Amino acid sequence: MSKVFLSEEDFFLHGSHKTVREDIQQTHHEPQLLTEVSRLREEIERLRKANQDLYIALSTTAEHGDFIEAQLQEVNEQLKVEVEERKRAEATLKALLEAISKRKDDLEIVVQTIMEHGDVMDTQWSQKVTEINKLATLDALTQIANRRRFDEHLDQQWAQMTRERSPLALILCDIDHFKQFNDAYGHLAGDDCLQQVATVLNRCVSRPHDLVARFGGEEFAAILPQTSLEGAIRVAERMQAEVNQLQIPHIDSSVSTAVTLSIGIACLVPCSQSSSSELIRLSDRQLYLAKQLGRNQIVFQSASLQPPLL
Ligand code: GH3
Ligand code: MG
Ligand code: MG
Repeated sequence: MSKVFLSEEDFFLHGSHKTVREDIQQTHHEPQLLTEVSRLREEIERLRKANQDLYIALSTTAEHGDFIEAQLQEVNEQLKVEVEERKRAEATLKALLEAISKRKDDLEIVVQTIMEHGDVMDTQWSQKVTEINKLATLDALTQIANRRRFDEHLDQQWAQMTRERSPLALILCDIDHFKQFNDAYGHLAGDDCLQQVATVLNRCVSRPHDLVARFGGEEFAAILPQTSLEGAIRVAERMQAEVNQLQIPHIDSSVSTAVTLSIGIACLVPCSQSSSSELIRLSDRQLYLAKQLGRNQIVFQSASLQPPLL
């Protein structure tokens, strides 16, 4: 920027001061002239200062302008970078939205399928659960209730009969001389014998809460809730008759030419002070007596459980 500065000499040496002097000679007296000169000098001084201020202001503005321009450029660069970043972020977001919307579509199809086939799946699922539960409580060889199921059911019925104050009967059956049977006919024939016996024993009970189970080895048990000793004896007699009807040959038996059963029965009204193992203990004892008395026998006992005195 060019410097604009007017000195006092410039003012008087140039054409303008001639015009002023002529004006003075023609129109004013001496004192007035001096006053006018002084005023003009002051005016010149004021203009010079104004000129200086203007110059300073202009150069400051120019410097500031450079600084501001540099700042603007920097901000501009930053903005460019930000715009690029935003563009990239937008592209990523778009891709993400597309992926989410595809996932959503897939999920909607899955949900729809589940809703359409939900009932079928529910039924299949509950069938599977029932099957698994059944398998867990069935004896693999004989396909009647296993020992686990027996224990569960006996405890349930013990509690139930305790509440009802009703009799609970337990029949324990044991195949006579079964070891000799296996020895004579082989283990597979022994298995087959067990299956046949289990099937007929299972047919001998009919009430909803009756349960025939494989108690272990060649022993079977029948839980008979709400059944008196007389009722249990009738069931046991039927069991013996059914097994007898099978006429499974047993040449090494000391009691018969066919497979026979020894049976022990116990019956009692349960109480909460005692447990179901008491009933097993009692009927097992009757079974032992049946063996002692020569096998192929039914031995029974009706017991009463007295609550212990306090
Ligand atoms: P008792 O008249 O005193 O009951 O004599 P037992 O021979 O029947 O009784 P013991 O306890 O001496 O023998 C039971 C036999 O039952 C022994 C075993 O080989 C047989 N047994 C147990 N479980 C099975 C089985 O799952 N399959 C076969 N084949 N035999 C079995
Ligand atoms: Mg036995
Ligand atoms: Mg036996």
